[in-house]
Amino acid sequence: MDFMSLNSLETGVPAKGLVHSVETCGTVDGPGIRYIVFLSGCSLRCKYCHNPDTSFVRRGKEMTAEEVLADIERYAGFLKGSGGGVTLSGGDPLFQIEFSREILNGCKKLGLHTALDTSGALGAEADEAYLSLVDLVLLDIKAGVPASYRATTGGDLEPTLEFARRLGKMDKKVWLRYVLVPALTDNEENVKRVAEFASALGNIERVDVLPFHKIGAYKWKELGLKDPLAETPEPTSEAVARAKAIFSAAGFSCVK
Ligand code: SF4
Repeated sequence: MDFMSLNSLETGVPAKGLVHSVETCGTVDGPGIRYIVFLSGCSLRCKYCHNPDTSFVRRGKEMTAEEVLADIERYAGFLKGSGGGVTLSGGDPLFQIEFSREILNGCKKLGLHTALDTSGALGAEADEAYLSLVDLVLLDIKAGVPASYRATTGGDLEPTLEFARRLGKMDKKVWLRYVLVPALTDNEENVKRVAEFASALGNIERVDVLPFHKIGAYKWKELGLKDPLAETPEPTSEAVARAKAIFSAAGFSCVK
């Protein structure tokens, strides 16, 4: 099924997209309590993807934005009371740009805080009007050395950096995430380049160093895919501390 969403503004047909799942009580993907919508599809192929069933395989339930928003509305008072809101995640929400736009638009009409969880690889797709609907970007920069980025994700680093620079110029709030993977993204050069790049932007509110984990490994197996990091261990606490120290030296105090 082709699930690229329809643009209701152009066609008059309500935007439809593929929703992998929702979580109604998230606590880490933005401030307060979050209603998280996991949208299917992603342009990258990260070796450590813990949601390959969301990103590599286009699984999900076909829904209109109105249907998604009707469910969000049931929780709106609760989310607002917690200082929280709605986070679009995935996959990459920018992969279904018009569908995610419709959802963000509806969330703002409900007076809800919005967060966009993205790799930024498709950042050029998000125009100024789209970004005006986003209060916070949770930006994954997956490596600082272009060759490492490609080895990790299968894609190019530059589009993500360009998106980050745009967000910096707009002074858009960003929480930066860095996934630490032994022998892939944990060397000093990779971490240092991301830390120094981020430090120069001036809009990074928080940095999370996230240790690679094996929680999603079973999904690779279920999908009949070879897990490229099956033999890779989780990083040691010393390696995580070293990465956090590099971010600290660049002026950040890592929350995680
Ligand atoms: S960007 Fe995220 S969803 Fe996409 S492949 Fe990488 S880890 Fe998976």
